[in-house]
Amino acid sequence: MQGCVFCDIVGGRRDAYILYEDDTHMAFLDRYPVVPGHALIIPKAHHSTIVEMGPERAGRLFALVPLLAPAILHATGTVAFNVGQNNGEAAKQVVPHVHVHIIPRRPKDRINWNARAIPDAERFGEMVKTVREYLARQPAT
Ligand SMILES: [Zn+2]
Repeated sequence: MQGCVFCDIVGGRRDAYILYEDDTHMAFLDRYPVVPGHALIIPKAHHSTIVEMGPERAGRLFALVPLLAPAILHATGTVAFNVGQNNGEAAKQVVPHVHVHIIPRRPKDRINWNARAIPDAERFGEMVKTVREYLARQPAT
């Protein structure tokens, strides 16, 4: 969709730290992470909310969580994570293109949703490399 940040990433018109890509989905690091390794999984097709996707497409989107989360945990040295999926502005959906958040968590960490740090490119790049290497070692599903 014209003017959609995530559609621009899918179309290669905007840069992203891409962790994973297949024919229908993509995962990349959140540019404004609440913690290091905060990643997003999106369908390549534009849908504003999960309801618009319907059950089958929504299922395929969430099916990527158990594939990608272990790679992100490996890259961040964490063992726990939250999955988040916001629908609508009042629910804090910032980009109106469906996305699933994977947020690595540590014991006693504190997430401040309003004070997102922007890591440097080098740190993002290392994370991408580590995640991709991990995924490459996994057997094909
Ligand atoms: Zn879009």
